[in-house]
Amino acid sequence: MELYSGRISELIGQLAKLPGVGTKTAARLAFHIINMPEDRARALADAIVSAKENVHECTCCHTLTDGEMCPVCQDENRDRTTIMVVENSRDLAAYEKTGRYNGVYHVLQGAISPMLGIGPEDIRLKELIKRLEGDVKEVIIATNSSLEGETTAMYISKLIKPTGIKVSRIASGVPVGGDLEYIDEVTLFRALEGRTEL
Ligand code: ZN
Repeated sequence: MELYSGRISELIGQLAKLPGVGTKTAARLAFHIINMPEDRARALADAIVSAKENVHECTCCHTLTDGEMCPVCQDENRDRTTIMVVENSRDLAAYEKTGRYNGVYHVLQGAISPMLGIGPEDIRLKELIKRLEGDVKEVIIATNSSLEGETTAMYISKLIKPTGIKVSRIASGVPVGGDLEYIDEVTLFRALEGRTEL
């Protein structure tokens, strides 16, 4: 026998597919949503559909954004000769929060992981190499310090080295395996300042 009727079970099932949400939490959220005033529930549903339909990768740096180009790429005061390479849009946001970086970014949308079958062609590497044809003086690799992040950093550095463009890696001190987005701004800024040339 089903514990809850069809539509309730369906909602719980969908919520339980979200990362970090177990069945118990999914049930709690489902009943919370069901008890919401209708306009709030609709606003939540609309926000999900609208984000899904309208968010895409910036044509320049590949971070996720609403417009054709993200706010950083549109900002004429940013130094386009320095590109910081990060794994995802959340990492970009973490560095933006420090308020101390004035270059631009390149978002890989992932990291190389032989274990998960993610190769160099599965992340936005070709797009990064293409950008180096412009006037670029330094590429700062700020991938996570996980195995995948380090593998990716090594791969990128080997790829860029022959071009003569300076390649640097943010300082360790960022905890191993730590997701960049959970690290406080001061630590992130120090990691950036203490970067070493590869
Ligand atoms: Zn952009």
